[in-house]
Amino acid sequence: MSTQNENGAPKPPTPPDFHIDANEGSDVKKVIAVVSGKGGVGKSSVTAMSAVWARRNGYQTAVMDADITGPSVPKMFGVGYQDLVATEECLYPATTVTGIKVMSMNLLTKQEDAPVIWRSPVITGALKQFWTDVAWGSVDYMFIDMPPGTGDVPLTVFQSFPVDGIIVVTTPQDLVQMIVKKALGMAKLMKVPVLGIVENMSYIKCPHCGEEIHLFGESKVQEIADKENIPVIARIPIDPDMASFMDNGKAEYYECNFMDGLKEVLPEVEL
Ligand code: ADP
Repeated sequence: MSTQNENGAPKPPTPPDFHIDANEGSDVKKVIAVVSGKGGVGKSSVTAMSAVWARRNGYQTAVMDADITGPSVPKMFGVGYQDLVATEECLYPATTVTGIKVMSMNLLTKQEDAPVIWRSPVITGALKQFWTDVAWGSVDYMFIDMPPGTGDVPLTVFQSFPVDGIIVVTTPQDLVQMIVKKALGMAKLMKVPVLGIVENMSYIKCPHCGEEIHLFGESKVQEIADKENIPVIARIPIDPDMASFMDNGKAEYYECNFMDGLKEVLPEVEL
């Protein structure tokens, strides 16, 4: 390969490709990363609901919990240590009642409340093994629950895994514009498209008259999304029922159509 351009000047080196090969027992078609600016905004809930939406629509679906130090996905789906199968060659993800495949650090420890106190190279190493050592089987959509922010772990995911798109989760109290701009910046750097924004805890619905009450004032998310030219996938109300289903391992039993907007934004796969 020539190291000079057509004028004889030196060409910049090609950036290294950090992508790693998936386990040979995996055929994952599309990988979607779910990100947020900070914790507690409902990113894991949105990841779980996205997976439930995809499964209900007939897709082979998986969730990789990359929020290693605060893993909540197994709890939302009611799976645990006992659901994981390990052989000498590879690990098989846990499978939920409707057939969603789940892998999380929490599945590797018998005690779900044991903290993961690891330095970041160990964490990123473990995460890579979720890709190289887990036989995911055939998956149409894999949703990755990312840790909040733009640290080492998100960087590892974007550099190592073939991410096809990003979903940004915000709440009305968030500095939405800043978070969206940061996500767009990271997406651009990583050459991955932002598929859209989900505004969680957007409003509460009056149980008597059905009126939408905007606790934090009118939402700015549509305005910001329009400015940045990205779609708003969903605006999800604060719903105590949802928290109850999620927190009790019944994510798949929660009936809602909040995530229907995914149909418009997810990269297509053939069923
Ligand atoms: P994150 O992944 O951003 O830290 P989680 O999805 O774990 O956030 O949500 C934090 C808590 O808020 C959980 O107990 C969850 O059930 C609850 N929660 C999230 N979204 C909603 C909502 N729209 N309505 C009610 N509770 C919610």
